[in-house]
Amino acid sequence: MGRYLGSSCKHCRREGMKLFLKGARCETAKCPIEKKQKNLAPGMHGWRKGRSSEYGVRLREKQKIKWFYGIFDRQFMRYFHQAERLKGNTGETLLLLLERRLDNVVYKLNFAPSRKAARQLITHGHIYVNGKKVDLPDYSVNVGARISVKGSEKSVKRVKSQLEQNPSFSTQGWLQLDREKPEATVVALPTREDIQIPVEEQLVIEFCSR
Ligand code: SF4
Repeated sequence: MGRYLGSSCKHCRREGMKLFLKGARCETAKCPIEKKQKNLAPGMHGWRKGRSSEYGVRLREKQKIKWFYGIFDRQFMRYFHQAERLKGNTGETLLLLLERRLDNVVYKLNFAPSRKAARQLITHGHIYVNGKKVDLPDYSVNVGARISVKGSEKSVKRVKSQLEQNPSFSTQGWLQLDREKPEATVVALPTREDIQIPVEEQLVIEFCSR
């Protein structure tokens, strides 16, 4: 499985918005998007802003989703083709499929400070689904899935300390969290309103259907 090792902040700078890829740092003044002089597109000519072509606008929308969920092109297209085969609005279905990824769910439960950290937690075997270890970040959760942490002291301590850092945190309605264990249940499938990324999914579908 490939892993992106480059700078995360440059993706936010390219899109001109916060994509929250670095956990707690994203909420601080250290975020380049907060600093006007660094809030430029990456590269030597980042200050040059031309008008985007129709293709460019659609490409940017697709890239936003890719970086937000931390996936590569090939994985993205796999989700797109899956969404095409399913009933309903393809753009919305695409986002909902991505939202059900285990790494996204672990992040939304606040077991990890970012999706990247959630992926590491999963691949290192700290996360169990319905009592069985699942080390695949792209595992798709279903209604009724019970997400728990490996029984070892180290795993529980790691997740509990993350939960304690943000005591006022509350999960979205489709997830039910028991902070004490810590454990969670997927009580419903996510809806479009649960997805926080500001993206026009119709443009993404137009890009992928070329
Ligand atoms: Fe994006 Fe977070 Fe970096 Fe800010 S600190 S640019 S939100 S990844």
